[in-house]
Amino acid sequence: MIKFNHVFKIYEKNIKALDDINFSVKKGEFVFITGPSGAGKTTILNLLYREDIADMGSIFVNNEDIAHISERKLPFYRRNIGFVFQDFKLLFDRTIYDNIALPLVITKTDKKFIKNKVEEYIEKTGLSGKENLTPWHLSGGEKQKVAIIRAFIINPPLILADEPTGNLDDESSWEIMKMFEEINSKGTTILFASHNKELIQKMKKRVIKLDKGRIISDESV
Ligand code: ADP
Repeated sequence: MIKFNHVFKIYEKNIKALDDINFSVKKGEFVFITGPSGAGKTTILNLLYREDIADMGSIFVNNEDIAHISERKLPFYRRNIGFVFQDFKLLFDRTIYDNIALPLVITKTDKKFIKNKVEEYIEKTGLSGKENLTPWHLSGGEKQKVAIIRAFIINPPLILADEPTGNLDDESSWEIMKMFEEINSKGTTILFASHNKELIQKMKKRVIKLDKGRIISDESV
Protein backbone atom coordinates (compact mmCIF):
# COMPACT_ATOMS: atom_id res chain seq x y z
CA MET A 1 0.00 0.00 0.00
CA ILE A 2 2.85 2.38 0.88
CA LYS A 3 6.37 2.49 -0.52
CA PHE A 4 9.15 4.96 0.30
CA ASN A 5 11.86 4.75 -2.31
CA HIS A 6 15.12 6.59 -1.49
CA VAL A 7 13.26 9.50 0.09
CA PHE A 8 15.20 12.60 1.18
CA LYS A 9 13.81 15.72 2.83
CA ILE A 10 16.29 18.49 3.44
CA TYR A 11 15.35 21.69 5.24
CA GLU A 12 17.29 24.92 5.17
CA LYS A 13 20.71 24.95 6.80
CA ASN A 14 21.15 21.49 5.32
CA ILE A 15 19.11 19.71 8.00
CA LYS A 16 18.45 16.25 6.62
CA ALA A 17 15.04 15.50 8.16
CA LEU A 18 14.95 12.32 6.04
CA ASP A 19 18.15 10.82 4.72
CA ASP A 20 17.50 8.01 2.23
CA ILE A 21 14.37 6.40 3.66
CA ASN A 22 13.24 3.06 2.22
CA PHE A 23 10.37 0.94 3.51
CA SER A 24 7.10 -0.62 2.43
CA VAL A 25 3.87 -1.15 4.32
CA LYS A 26 1.30 -3.73 3.30
CA LYS A 27 -2.42 -3.11 3.42
CA GLY A 28 -3.74 -3.82 6.92
CA GLU A 29 -0.37 -3.51 8.70
CA PHE A 30 0.08 -1.69 12.01
CA VAL A 31 3.45 0.03 12.10
CA PHE A 32 5.00 2.12 14.85
CA ILE A 33 7.47 4.79 13.83
CA THR A 34 9.71 5.65 16.72
CA GLY A 35 12.93 7.46 17.54
CA PRO A 36 14.05 10.52 19.50
CA SER A 37 12.63 13.99 18.99
CA GLY A 38 13.81 15.37 15.64
CA ALA A 39 14.41 11.90 14.14
CA GLY A 40 11.98 12.49 11.25
CA LYS A 41 8.75 10.81 12.39
CA THR A 42 6.46 13.77 11.71
CA THR A 43 8.19 14.44 8.40
CA ILE A 44 7.32 10.91 7.19
CA LEU A 45 3.65 11.39 8.10
CA ASN A 46 3.51 14.88 6.59
CA LEU A 47 4.97 13.65 3.32
CA LEU A 48 2.42 10.83 3.20
CA TYR A 49 -0.41 13.30 3.78
CA ARG A 50 1.08 15.47 1.02
CA GLU A 51 1.46 18.39 3.41
CA ASP A 52 4.92 18.50 1.94
CA ILE A 53 6.85 16.93 -0.96
CA ALA A 54 10.09 14.93 -0.83
CA ASP A 55 13.21 16.63 -2.24
CA MET A 56 14.44 13.38 -3.76
CA GLY A 57 13.02 9.89 -4.15
CA SER A 58 9.40 8.83 -4.45
CA ILE A 59 6.49 7.82 -2.26
CA PHE A 60 3.87 5.48 -3.63
CA VAL A 61 0.43 4.97 -2.11
CA ASN A 62 -1.62 2.29 -3.82
CA ASN A 63 0.89 2.33 -6.69
CA GLU A 64 0.43 6.05 -7.30
CA ASP A 65 3.40 8.42 -6.98
CA ILE A 66 1.80 10.94 -4.63
CA ALA A 67 4.10 13.78 -5.77
CA HIS A 68 2.05 13.77 -8.98
CA ILE A 69 -1.35 14.32 -7.35
CA SER A 70 -2.71 17.68 -8.55
CA GLU A 71 -3.93 20.37 -6.14
CA ARG A 72 -7.44 19.73 -7.43
CA LYS A 73 -7.27 16.03 -6.60
CA LEU A 74 -5.53 16.46 -3.24
CA PRO A 75 -8.74 16.74 -1.15
CA PHE A 76 -9.94 13.43 -2.62
CA TYR A 77 -6.61 11.77 -1.83
CA ARG A 78 -6.82 13.04 1.76
CA ARG A 79 -10.37 11.78 2.19
CA ASN A 80 -8.94 8.28 2.36
CA ILE A 81 -6.61 9.19 5.20
CA GLY A 82 -7.46 9.80 8.83
CA PHE A 83 -4.76 12.04 10.28
CA VAL A 84 -4.42 12.47 14.03
CA PHE A 85 -2.35 15.62 14.45
CA GLN A 86 -0.07 16.20 17.40
CA ASP A 87 -1.66 19.62 17.95
CA PHE A 88 -5.22 18.28 17.38
CA LYS A 89 -6.27 20.89 14.78
CA LEU A 90 -9.78 21.10 16.22
CA LEU A 91 -12.22 23.87 15.30
CA PHE A 92 -12.57 25.93 18.47
CA ASP A 93 -15.71 27.76 17.36
CA ARG A 94 -17.62 24.50 16.85
CA THR A 95 -19.00 21.97 19.31
CA ILE A 96 -17.40 18.60 20.00
CA TYR A 97 -20.26 16.99 18.08
CA ASP A 98 -19.60 19.18 15.01
CA ASN A 99 -15.85 18.60 15.18
CA ILE A 100 -16.33 14.84 15.14
CA ALA A 101 -19.09 14.89 12.52
CA LEU A 102 -17.17 17.18 10.14
CA PRO A 103 -15.47 14.54 7.93
CA LEU A 104 -18.84 12.84 7.40
CA VAL A 105 -20.64 16.12 6.73
CA ILE A 106 -18.07 16.97 4.05
CA THR A 107 -18.78 13.68 2.29
CA LYS A 108 -22.53 14.37 2.50
CA THR A 109 -23.31 11.32 4.64
CA ASP A 110 -26.88 10.68 5.82
CA LYS A 111 -27.64 12.77 8.96
CA LYS A 112 -29.10 9.88 10.95
CA PHE A 113 -26.04 7.73 10.22
CA ILE A 114 -23.79 10.59 11.36
CA LYS A 115 -25.72 11.01 14.60
CA ASN A 116 -25.50 7.30 15.42
CA LYS A 117 -21.79 7.10 14.62
CA VAL A 118 -20.86 10.24 16.57
CA GLU A 119 -22.87 9.11 19.59
CA GLU A 120 -21.34 5.64 19.47
CA TYR A 121 -17.79 7.02 19.55
CA ILE A 122 -18.58 9.69 22.16
CA GLU A 123 -19.90 7.02 24.48
CA LYS A 124 -17.01 4.65 23.81
CA THR A 125 -14.44 7.28 24.77
CA GLY A 126 -16.23 8.57 27.86
CA LEU A 127 -17.02 11.97 26.36
CA SER A 128 -20.78 11.68 26.96
CA GLY A 129 -22.33 14.95 28.10
CA LYS A 130 -19.64 17.05 26.39
CA GLU A 131 -21.13 16.94 22.87
CA ASN A 132 -22.36 20.52 22.97
CA LEU A 133 -19.27 22.10 24.49
CA THR A 134 -16.53 23.69 22.42
CA PRO A 135 -12.95 22.38 22.64
CA TRP A 136 -12.12 25.31 24.98
CA HIS A 137 -13.86 23.39 27.75
CA LEU A 138 -11.92 20.14 27.32
CA SER A 139 -8.69 18.91 28.91
CA GLY A 140 -5.68 18.06 26.71
CA GLY A 141 -6.54 14.37 26.89
CA GLU A 142 -10.15 14.96 25.93
CA LYS A 143 -9.14 17.10 22.97
CA GLN A 144 -6.80 14.31 21.90
CA LYS A 145 -9.68 11.84 22.05
CA VAL A 146 -11.85 14.11 19.86
CA ALA A 147 -9.01 14.37 17.32
CA ILE A 148 -8.73 10.58 17.26
CA ILE A 149 -12.46 9.96 16.86
CA ARG A 150 -12.58 12.50 14.03
CA ALA A 151 -9.93 10.49 12.18
CA PHE A 152 -11.67 7.17 12.84
CA ILE A 153 -15.20 8.16 11.96
CA ILE A 154 -14.79 7.97 8.19
CA ASN A 155 -13.40 4.44 8.58
CA PRO A 156 -10.47 5.31 6.30
CA PRO A 157 -8.22 2.73 4.63
CA LEU A 158 -5.20 4.52 6.14
CA ILE A 159 -4.67 6.26 9.48
CA LEU A 160 -1.61 8.39 10.21
CA ALA A 161 -1.20 9.25 13.86
CA ASP A 162 1.40 11.65 15.25
CA GLU A 163 1.99 10.99 18.98
CA PRO A 164 -1.74 10.48 19.53
CA THR A 165 -1.31 9.39 23.14
CA GLY A 166 1.14 12.16 24.03
CA ASN A 167 -1.45 13.97 26.15
CA LEU A 168 -3.09 10.98 27.74
CA ASP A 169 -2.54 9.20 31.04
CA ASP A 170 -1.67 5.48 31.01
CA GLU A 171 -5.25 4.28 31.30
CA SER A 172 -6.58 6.55 28.54
CA SER A 173 -3.58 5.69 26.33
CA TRP A 174 -4.42 2.05 26.65
CA GLU A 175 -8.11 2.63 25.85
CA ILE A 176 -7.08 4.57 22.77
CA MET A 177 -4.63 1.85 21.71
CA LYS A 178 -7.46 -0.68 21.92
CA MET A 179 -9.45 1.54 19.53
CA PHE A 180 -6.52 1.63 17.10
CA GLU A 181 -6.24 -2.16 17.33
CA GLU A 182 -9.94 -2.59 16.68
CA ILE A 183 -10.00 -0.40 13.58
CA ASN A 184 -6.79 -2.10 12.39
CA SER A 185 -8.39 -5.55 12.81
CA LYS A 186 -11.10 -4.43 10.36
CA GLY A 187 -8.48 -3.72 7.69
CA THR A 188 -7.30 -0.13 8.23
CA THR A 189 -3.57 0.34 7.76
CA ILE A 190 -1.96 2.33 10.59
CA LEU A 191 1.25 4.31 10.82
CA PHE A 192 1.68 5.42 14.40
CA ALA A 193 4.47 7.79 15.43
CA SER A 194 5.36 7.56 19.10
CA HIS A 195 8.30 7.57 21.44
CA ASN A 196 6.40 5.83 24.24
CA LYS A 197 8.63 2.74 24.59
CA GLU A 198 6.42 1.00 27.11
CA LEU A 199 3.32 1.33 24.95
CA ILE A 200 5.14 0.13 21.83
CA GLN A 201 6.54 -2.90 23.65
CA LYS A 202 3.12 -3.84 24.97
CA MET A 203 1.49 -3.69 21.52
CA LYS A 204 3.83 -6.17 19.82
CA LYS A 205 3.65 -4.71 16.31
CA ARG A 206 6.19 -3.86 13.63
CA VAL A 207 8.50 -1.03 14.75
CA ILE A 208 10.51 1.21 12.43
CA LYS A 209 13.15 3.05 14.44
CA LEU A 210 14.55 6.33 13.13
CA ASP A 211 17.54 8.36 14.15
CA LYS A 212 18.68 11.57 12.47
CA GLY A 213 16.52 10.91 9.42
CA ARG A 214 17.69 7.34 8.88
CA ILE A 215 16.05 3.98 9.58
CA ILE A 216 18.23 2.23 12.14
CA SER A 217 16.00 -0.81 12.58
CA ASP A 218 12.79 -2.27 11.20
CA GLU A 219 11.52 -5.18 13.26
CA SER A 220 8.34 -7.21 13.13
CA VAL A 221 7.24 -9.23 16.12
P1 ADP B 1 10.17 14.04 14.92
O1 ADP B 1 8.75 13.98 14.50
O2 ADP B 1 10.82 12.69 14.95
O3 ADP B 1 10.37 14.76 16.22
P2 ADP B 1 10.50 15.86 12.69
O4 ADP B 1 10.09 15.09 11.50
O5 ADP B 1 9.51 16.81 13.26
O6 ADP B 1 11.00 14.85 13.83
O7 ADP B 1 11.81 16.69 12.37
C1 ADP B 1 12.98 16.16 11.75
C2 ADP B 1 14.01 17.25 11.58
O8 ADP B 1 13.58 18.19 10.60
C3 ADP B 1 14.30 18.05 12.84
O9 ADP B 1 15.67 18.37 12.85
C4 ADP B 1 13.47 19.29 12.65
O10 ADP B 1 14.02 20.38 13.34
C5 ADP B 1 13.53 19.49 11.15
N1 ADP B 1 12.33 20.14 10.62
C6 ADP B 1 11.09 19.64 10.61
N2 ADP B 1 10.22 20.46 10.01
C7 ADP B 1 10.94 21.54 9.64
C8 ADP B 1 10.62 22.77 8.96
N3 ADP B 1 9.37 23.03 8.56
N4 ADP B 1 11.62 23.63 8.74
C9 ADP B 1 12.89 23.36 9.13
N5 ADP B 1 13.26 22.24 9.75
C10 ADP B 1 12.30 21.34 10.02
